[in-house]
Amino acid sequence: MMKMMKMMKMKKCSFDYDDTVNNRESVQQFVMELIRTGWEVWIVTSRYNTKGALLNGWHWIEDQNNKLFELTDKLGIKRENIVFTNHADKIDYLRGKGFAFHVDDSFDELMKIRESDDECYPICVDYFAWEEDLRENFNL
Ligand SMILES: [Mg+2]
Repeated sequence: MMKMMKMMKMKKCSFDYDDTVNNRESVQQFVMELIRTGWEVWIVTSRYNTKGALLNGWHWIEDQNNKLFELTDKLGIKRENIVFTNHADKIDYLRGKGFAFHVDDSFDELMKIRESDDECYPICVDYFAWEEDLRENFNL
């Protein structure tokens, strides 16, 4: 049993939040399915974290981030799997961590992932066949 667990490759993937997870039912269903089937699902958002926002006096961000947590809790995404990049490029966080794919609506973020040497597979949520594409590529 232990040996088998060691041999199992970590299935880990990442999603943008705004205009990807927050307002798309199909993405939310997909996230829940991934978690059910043993995937480690992360949110990598370029938003500011609450602490940093409050230091800058941006009080409204606390509310916005609390709403984010409300939804990610509902979907079953662990709090420790939520990353706020504070507007840094997402590839800078994703690089070297073994993410299989990242779903986003930002071409800029996706291009930077594509142009990097990381194996993370970037896919645009506005591409009509994003889900089919992932299912084919990752045997989902
Ligand atoms: Mg977005």
